[in-house]
Amino acid sequence: MNYNLRPAANGRDYAAELNPEQLSAVCTDARHALVIAGAGSGKTRTLTYRVARLLECGVAPWRILLLTFTNKAAREMLERVAALAGMGAGQIWGGTFHSVANRLLRLHATRLGYQPGFTILDGDDQRALFRALTKEFAGKTTKADRFPKAETLQSLHSLAINTGRSWQLTLRTEYAYMDKHEEVIGKIFDAYRTRKQESNSMDFDDLLTNLLRLLQEHEDIRTDLQGRFLHVLVDEYQDTNTLQAAIIGLLAGGQDTSLMVVGDDAQSIYSWRGANVDHIFEFTHTYPDAQVYKIETNYRSVPAILEISNAAIAHNTRQFAKVLRPARPNGRMKPAVVPAPDNRTEARFIAQRIDELMEAGIAGKDIAVLYRAHFHSLDVQMELTRNHIPYRITSGLRFFEQAHIKDVVAWLRLLSNPRDEIAFRRIVSTFPRVGEATAGKLWQLWATTAEAWLQAHPDATTITAPHSEVFAKLTVPAAARPHWGGFLAAMDSLHPADRILTPAELVHLVQNYLDDYLRHAYENYEERLEDISQLTRSLSDAADLDAFLSQVALLSEDDTQTEVDPDCVTLSTIHQAKGLEWKVVFVIFLGEGLFPHYKVIQSADADDLEEELRLFYVAITRAEDQLYLSYPRYNGHSYDSQFCPPSRFLTTLEPALYELWNL
Ligand code: ATP
Ligand code: MG
Repeated sequence: MNYNLRPAANGRDYAAELNPEQLSAVCTDARHALVIAGAGSGKTRTLTYRVARLLECGVAPWRILLLTFTNKAAREMLERVAALAGMGAGQIWGGTFHSVANRLLRLHATRLGYQPGFTILDGDDQRALFRALTKEFAGKTTKADRFPKAETLQSLHSLAINTGRSWQLTLRTEYAYMDKHEEVIGKIFDAYRTRKQESNSMDFDDLLTNLLRLLQEHEDIRTDLQGRFLHVLVDEYQDTNTLQAAIIGLLAGGQDTSLMVVGDDAQSIYSWRGANVDHIFEFTHTYPDAQVYKIETNYRSVPAILEISNAAIAHNTRQFAKVLRPARPNGRMKPAVVPAPDNRTEARFIAQRIDELMEAGIAGKDIAVLYRAHFHSLDVQMELTRNHIPYRITSGLRFFEQAHIKDVVAWLRLLSNPRDEIAFRRIVSTFPRVGEATAGKLWQLWATTAEAWLQAHPDATTITAPHSEVFAKLTVPAAARPHWGGFLAAMDSLHPADRILTPAELVHLVQNYLDDYLRHAYENYEERLEDISQLTRSLSDAADLDAFLSQVALLSEDDTQTEVDPDCVTLSTIHQAKGLEWKVVFVIFLGEGLFPHYKVIQSADADDLEEELRLFYVAITRAEDQLYLSYPRYNGHSYDSQFCPPSRFLTTLEPALYELWNL
């Protein structure tokens, strides 16, 4: 069906605010349209203006469906639409796939056998259910050869659904180390589905699968929805998974419905969560009548940043060919490549440079530090804290709030302060079969004995005699007995008679002791090990244990800033930075093996390597005015420091594209 796009009622001059290609996409009558363009070319802007334009042309808001990657993105776009169109955009269906699925299922879930008013299980609820079922089905057999944790079961279950593969296949390919438990896992998964159904609840994945089922199996509902939505618009289409692509196809399947998707194949970075870049590659096959719009102007970045981005991504073979020309005039500087002797010098450089930029009048909110993995941010967190530069972290918990870091730090805390109940409880809770109650009893025993020892040694601030002697006579509850001796021996090893160990050595010992526990307690055990090693690398200069622990405490103090404070610098993983932009961007830890990750290098999997490069491309294309690419030649100072050559992403760049900054 054709729309006659009348001139805007409010006289807005679209042509002045959009380039010709954007304008034709905004005004298109095509039933299927793909806007495929590089980063910063105004794809999101095009979608926003199109929605505004549709409203102005009299399309009822409730007949527009706008799918975005986060709900926040949807809100921001709709606010913008309201400002542009000069009218409320409230009735527009906008949000993530999950939120839209939820709205539709609220209306129709009874058709799938649910009772009205189903509950949504969030991640925590899901894990609780998996824990309960593990207890039920894996029973005692799991105590000896540890059964996968609830969060691992949850990830396995979810990845299978989002990639449309069976969980058995997913188990064998992605979680091979636990395939001996396949039979029990199968029982747990069956029961998981039954329990959810019985409790009239859906998890996040159910929202997608149930919406798809609803559309596939119930013709009347499908027809109704296809008749309702006249315009379906999708941002970041390159990161849709198979379920989402199928849902889009059905929702936009009406005779009169138009579908516009926008994306950049070069920015597909979520394959590990089931996203599949093929959907954008195949869009024109799926919809042979599709009109393709390519925007070839970049509005975000100064030319020098754009050149380096274009050059970097050119190394990938599998992509739509794109040229991006700068709209902005030349900036003052080329991107800087900054080799640092080590990780702490790198962090010091970042902090100092940020300080200078802020002195020069750039607001903290216009500055971001981006990295591939959360733990890469540790040194920068410490330096910013030292320099009193406020920051917020969008990549997850602050480093020292992560459970596995706390597990390790608990030992050091107890070593330095035997009265630390929280640390003690955390340690003994890692023993199999020790729950809250036993931990409480153990604590009583421990505390009385420790107190008596400290009273008898008034000069000591902590227990300096071997723990195996001091606590030898305790009669501990049966559940804790198998591990108690090992625990005391481990404490002994942390303060040998002849010398005082450095914090790094202590972390190392604790990590070894906890190895088995960590491996089974946490998903991505290896990533978490890297975190712990980073702890020793970054803190090995702390003079003694107390200095180390106070650094830790100060860093984890303030995690409550959520509001965007204009002074706050952003620290973010690259994944979380998708679609966003800042005046100044630092990309750190660009060492070969760190980014690209050594495992991807080892596997030599071409697809995975291309995804790493896309991730790099996403990072550098966030920058508007200034871009700094840094890496540490050595990561760490002590015996386990890693030597890092510069990342291949840097070495393959023409030197003319950047300035080399020597510190
Ligand atoms: P990404 O691929 O990173 O998601 P994008 O293609 O969605 O980027 P936008 O975020 O829409 O790009 O736009 C990038 C920047 O360029 C924004 O600040 C936007 O306002 C600006 N911009 C886009 N098009 C124009 C234009 N025609 N005139 C002026 N500014 C523009
Ligand atoms: Mg965008």
